[in-house]
Amino acid sequence: MSGFNLLHLVTKSQPVALKSCALPSGICRKKKTWPVTFTQEELKKRLTPMQYHVTQEKGTESAFTGEHAHSKEKGTYNCIVCGAPLFTSDKKFDSGSGWPSFFDLIKEDSIALTDDFSHGMHRVEASCSQCGAHLGHLFDDGPRPTGKRYCINSASLGFQPKEATVTAEASEEASASGSKTEL
Ligand SMILES: [Zn+2]
Repeated sequence: MSGFNLLHLVTKSQPVALKSCALPSGICRKKKTWPVTFTQEELKKRLTPMQYHVTQEKGTESAFTGEHAHSKEKGTYNCIVCGAPLFTSDKKFDSGSGWPSFFDLIKEDSIALTDDFSHGMHRVEASCSQCGAHLGHLFDDGPRPTGKRYCINSASLGFQPKEATVTAEASEEASASGSKTEL
């Protein structure tokens, strides 16, 4: 009689191979969930119809109509939906397209890139990597040194002028939650 016990069949789960991504850079994100989410209801209240249309319905504002299209003001552009910093004014350039254009990001992973085959062409869609808000598209005809052109809707962007300081409001909010957790 053999004393071997063959009842323990171990099923090993195969590691799931990550699909490689043909995109030039950034995050290749296939799933539809994002670190930061908002309800449709809240966004409809908080955003203008155009901001909602562009960021949530992948809309495009008309060229030369956006408030940031020709702005040369110094500061930071952030996601209008979640506030994540995306671009700085020193990476903005005049592409002549009528939309705010940037040749580089604040952080490589602040924007998620996905293939967009809408309108019978292949483009690379640029979205906020935090909340998934549609921002615009990435093209490879930008100026040096990156050669990239992030063509972004003004409606997707908030703007924080460089001079502005966020001291009063921020500290007030921080002290409002008075509960301290000690470990
Ligand atoms: Zn966002």
